[in-house]
Amino acid sequence: MVAKVKGPTDHVVVVGAGLAGLSAALRLAGAGRKVTVVERESVPGGRNGLLNKSGYSFDTGPSVLTMPDLIADALACVGEDIKDWLDLVPLKPLYRAFYHDGSQLDVHADTNQMQAEIAKTISQEEAAGYGRYVEFVTKLYKYEMNDFIDRNIDSPLNLLTPNLARLVALGGFRKLAPKVNQFLKDPRTQKVYSFQAMYAGVSPQQALAIYAVIAYMDSVNGVFFPKGGMHAVPRALAAAAEKHGVTFKYNTTVTSVEKKNGRATAVITESGERITADVFVLNPDLPVAWRDLCQSSASSTPLHASHCLLDPIRVMTILHITIFISVNHGMASLMN
Ligand SMILES: Cc1cc2nc3c(=O)[nH]c(=O)nc-3n(C[C@H](O)[C@H](O)[C@H](O)COP(=O)(O)OP(=O)(O)OC[C@H]3O[C@@H](n4cnc5c(N)ncnc54)[C@H](O)[C@@H]3O)c2cc1C
Repeated sequence: MVAKVKGPTDHVVVVGAGLAGLSAALRLAGAGRKVTVVERESVPGGRNGLLNKSGYSFDTGPSVLTMPDLIADALACVGEDIKDWLDLVPLKPLYRAFYHDGSQLDVHADTNQMQAEIAKTISQEEAAGYGRYVEFVTKLYKYEMNDFIDRNIDSPLNLLTPNLARLVALGGFRKLAPKVNQFLKDPRTQKVYSFQAMYAGVSPQQALAIYAVIAYMDSVNGVFFPKGGMHAVPRALAAAAEKHGVTFKYNTTVTSVEKKNGRATAVITESGERITADVFVLNPDLPVAWRDLCQSSASSTPLHASHCLLDPIRVMTILHITIFISVNHGMASLMN
């Protein structure tokens, strides 16, 4: 059961035009709300940002896109088709992994192509193990997506679904690295199909096996490059939102949220402007929103992301971006 806002919800102010704020704005506009987005920067995107320098544009955040269906879903809320807004190029291969022994492995989203690559570079047995690993991560995705990822969790009771039992039975709550090693015996494939946990700041040794869903999202479902760079994504979302009546106020920093009788009534900006609405969506990081905007005395738990120390031994490279992964990435994370 999703928590509902009581009372009028006609006008919504979204603070922040990051991907989350833009997605919220599209969904609310699609649901018939009047939406105003207040963003401190001059462009949308937040951490999926843009740097213009000496006539060139640079993405300051992510370099490639996975799960474009989620972007399509946000655009569909206002009846827009992603094909009219973004030109997505599937990357082939996804990665080219280089190993210290001189061998290399091209990583393909197409399972048959990848099995052939593993059979050629490593062995038939390893290719068969990869096939079983793909079945495993595909099941993880099926069980996790609707119940745990694409869902509001308002109470621990929301977690109690039949898919939780399925995840337990699948071994999803064991550690990731040994689980991956059940399917893959060669250290090269073990690394290629477990490093994705580090995108979430956790080493494969420490992460739970449910994190292998990230390997599904990128190495099985595919990786895309939006023409114009990753900043084309927030630009498209913001333009579609504007087309459907969302108002954007850029270069406007919110300094506080005004409350009356326990309900937010307005946001106050740096210039002293007071923007009223019925409901407010705060896109800044949760501790910042609590501490700075809501001046809440409620103690908030800061989110921690561990960092992986870079090792001089390069074991893996991506064709489109370069990732350096320590051979001892598990140890490195433990040190943080
Ligand atoms: C180099 C890099 C690589 C990344 N790679 C990946 C990746 O491979 N995969 C992946 O999933 N994620 C990746 N990320 C993370 C991803 O970019 C972020 O998780 C995502 O963009 C966050 O979106 P958000 O809307 O939640 O928050 P943000 O992007 O932080 O949006 C918050 C918005 O609120 C605005 N704001 C804040 N305070 C105020 C205020 N007081 N008043 C008005 N506006 C305010 C900010 O300017 C910003 O626009 C990467 C990030 C970086 C930096």
